Amino acid sequence: MCVTAYCPCRRCCGEYSNGKTACGYKINPGDSFVAADSKYPFGTEMLIAGYNNGEPVKVLDRGGVIRGNKLDVFFNSHKQALQWGVRYLDVKIRSN
Ligand SMILES: [Zn+2]
Repeated sequence: MCVTAYCPCRRCCGEYSNGKTACGYKINPGDSFVAADSKYPFGTEMLIAGYNNGEPVKVLDRGGVIRGNKLDVFFNSHKQALQWGVRYLDVKIRSN
């Protein structure tokens, strides 16, 4: 899958930079989660190589351009999100 990264800042989220994700989850410092296509229900666990120390993370957000095989992993700072860049990874998906 094509995995990009984002943070809560206005550059990444624009008018949606309100500290909450699309499912109403309130973002806390240090959180790790992922935005995915709506075919993956909120709470679906994904194991994304190189993200969150190899621990699975949950789908808690959506994105206007996050469709199909695209994912967006969350970082707390814009710098970290930029460092991630764009990666093409095998992602393990565990549906609840
Ligand atoms: Zn940002």
